Amino acid sequence: MEFDVLIVGAGPVGCVLAEQLANLSNKKVLIIDKRYHMAGNCYDETHESGVLIHKYGPHYFRTNDKNLVDYLSKFTEWIEGNYYVTSKYINEYYPFPINRLTINNFFEKKFKTESEVEKFINEKRIKIENPKNSEEFVLSRVGKELYEAFYLGYTLKQWDLHPSKLGPSVCGRIPIRYNEDCRYVDHKYQLTPKFGFTELFKKMINHKNIDLKLNTDFKDLRNENFKTIIYTGAIDEYFNFKYGKLKWRSLEFKYKTFNKEFVQPNVQINYSNDFNYTRSVEIKHVTKQKIEKTVISYEYPTDKGDPYYPIPNEINESIYRKYKLLAEIETKEKNVHFCGRLAEYKYYNTDEVILKALELYQKIKENDK
Ligand code: FAD
Ligand code: UDP
Repeated sequence: MEFDVLIVGAGPVGCVLAEQLANLSNKKVLIIDKRYHMAGNCYDETHESGVLIHKYGPHYFRTNDKNLVDYLSKFTEWIEGNYYVTSKYINEYYPFPINRLTINNFFEKKFKTESEVEKFINEKRIKIENPKNSEEFVLSRVGKELYEAFYLGYTLKQWDLHPSKLGPSVCGRIPIRYNEDCRYVDHKYQLTPKFGFTELFKKMINHKNIDLKLNTDFKDLRNENFKTIIYTGAIDEYFNFKYGKLKWRSLEFKYKTFNKEFVQPNVQINYSNDFNYTRSVEIKHVTKQKIEKTVISYEYPTDKGDPYYPIPNEINESIYRKYKLLAEIETKEKNVHFCGRLAEYKYYNTDEVILKALELYQKIKENDK
C-alpha cells in the first residue's frame, strides 16, 4: 500500500488520528511504534497470573465531555465506577484527596458541614495570593500540617524535586474538598473500557486503510517521503536534542502476585512518608475482573527509562518553547504535526490528548482543502 500519512506512535493520539484520517478523509495511513505493542502508555495486558494489568501505571479514564464518551463508545463498552485512593500517614490510612473525613480523622474533629471545615482550614491556610509553585499552592489551600503529611514526601519521591521547584499545576491536579466526596477525581464520567484500553484502541484502528508496524523506530524511516507526518514521540528526540535534553521522569514497576481475590481495600494506596515507592495499585478494583488471584504493582520513580512525565518548571518549559518554535516551522515547511504528551511536553491525561488529536484532525482537514 502507498501511504498518504505516517503516524509515529501508536498511543491514543496516533490511533485517534489514524481512525479519523482513514474513516473521514479516506487516507491511507501507516502507524509505527518502537515498542512491541500499541496503545502507548494506556497499554494493558494479561499478566502471567491471568490478571489484567495496566503496564504503565493505573489509567483512570475520566472526562466531563459527553461527546468524547460518545465517540469512544463506538469502540468499547464501559465499566462504570469511581476511583478511590487512600494515603498512609504513620499507621493510619486516610481518604485522599483531602476532604472532610480526612480532616476530621487527622485533626480529631467532628465537623459536619462544609462551612465548619472551611472556617477551620481558613485558619490553617497560609495567605498566598498567587501561588507560584506546588508548595505555595498546597500551603495556601490547606496549611502546613496536611502539606507535610500528604504532599511533601510523595512529591520529593515522585519528582526528586522539592515542591517549591515544581509549577503549581502539579499538586494542583489533586482536588481539595470540604465535603465527604472521596473520589480521586471530580469528573462527571469515570469509566474503564470493558475489555481494556488496548482492545479499545485495536478496534479503533481496525480499518483497511490503516497499517500498523510495531518494533519500528522513526529514525529508520526518517529519509522516506510522506506527504504528511504526525509525530507523537518526544519532541527533543525529533530535533536530535539540538537545544539539549528535556527532563522527563520515569517509573519502574514491580509486581507481586497474591493467591487472594483482593489484598487492598481500594485501588490505590499512596505512601508519602514510607517506602521507596510512591503508590501500590490493585487495578482489579477498577477492571472488576473475576479471578481468584490478584496483582499489586509498586511504582518506583526514577530518572532512567521511558519518558513518562514532563517536569513542569521554568527551565524545562523554556527549553520546550525553543523546540516548539522549530516544530512550528517543521509543520509549515514539511507538514509534520506534533501532538500528544511527549510531543507537546505537557502533563496531559488521556481524555485531553484524545481531544487534542481530534482538533488536529480538523486542522489537517482544513489545510487539505
Ligand atoms: P503515548 O501514550 O506516550 O504514546 C506515544 C507512543 O509513541 C509510544 O507508544 C511510544 O513508544 C511511541 N514512540 C515514541 N517515539 C517513537 C519513535 N521514535 N518511533 C516510533 N514510536 C515512537 N491518563 C489518564 O487519563 N488517567 C490516568 O489515570 C493516567 N495515569 C497515568 C499514569 C502514568 C504512570 C502515566 C505515565 C500516564 C498516565 N496517564 C493517565 C496519561 C496517559 O498515559 C497519556 O495521556 C496518554 O498515553 C498520552 O497519549 P499519547 O498518544 O500522547 O502518548
Ligand atoms: N501528590 C502528592 N501526594 C499524593 C498524591 C499526589 O503530593 O498522595 C502530588 C505529587 O506531586 C504528584 C501530583 O500530586 O506527582 C499529581 O498526582 P497524580 O496522582 O495526579 O499523579 P499521576 O497519577 O499523574 O502520577
